Amino acid sequence: MTTTLITGGNKGLGRETARRLVAEGHDVWLGARDSERGQATADELGARFLALDVTSDESVQAAASVLESEVGHLDVLVNNAGIPGGWRSPADTTADHVRAVYETNVFGLVRVTHAMLPLLQRSSRPVIVNVSSGMGSLTITSDPDRIESTLLGLPYQSSKSAVNMITSQYARSLPGIRINAVDPGYTATDLNGHRGTQPVEVGAEVIVAMALIGPDGPTGTYRDRTGPIPW
Ligand code: NAP
Repeated sequence: MTTTLITGGNKGLGRETARRLVAEGHDVWLGARDSERGQATADELGARFLALDVTSDESVQAAASVLESEVGHLDVLVNNAGIPGGWRSPADTTADHVRAVYETNVFGLVRVTHAMLPLLQRSSRPVIVNVSSGMGSLTITSDPDRIESTLLGLPYQSSKSAVNMITSQYARSLPGIRINAVDPGYTATDLNGHRGTQPVEVGAEVIVAMALIGPDGPTGTYRDRTGPIPW
């Protein structure tokens, strides 16, 4: 059975990804920082709850220890947890505003990946899916025909650009692991006050598809549900 960890699995795209991967027969460990909501969602979906706050070394180490003792390896890691930060103009943005978003979206992703790598390296078909965004693409955010070009902001956009580069560097340095970045598209979740134009069932498609690739699947790519997209 494929063992899968999803960070931020208690709601939104993470929850929908968990639901779909349970249906695919994965042994899904649903990471969440709030135990009550995480356990309730895991029970509802037939997943296993794993306490995991991506901003805490202690929490992430404890989560890795649980997986180590309960399973001994990890096949699929979905780095999904993310926050938008407040929306304010670049001129009004301070280093603290940027740092707060990076703590989760960038440092959190590296913290979890670093802690889980030894477990992934024990899998015969390890896969990492990093949930990025079209907002992290320099090409897409510069295209006046794209909705992503209409919102200007430093913390979230640049955090997802960092996720893209981190994905590329991990993929190039760890050829035994399939590591890709995905853009779910503008999806109605708490992250955007449910203003997204598509439901989570559509947004999660690319996350699920890249979680299901085998050892011959792509690595070092950035894509949405239609295929590769420009960095
Ligand atoms: P969401 O409904 O707000 O879900 C975000 C999840 O991340 C929640 O489970 C949240 O947990 C969790 N999280 C936040 N900080 C965490 C921490 N420190 N430790 C562990 N979990 C934490 O938003 P979403 O739209 O599903 O977002 C999921 C991912 O998709 C994010 O990386 C986001 O950037 C990306 N994305 C979303 C869209 C979109 O249009 N929605 C588009 C492109 C990319 P709590 O419930 O405890 O806060």
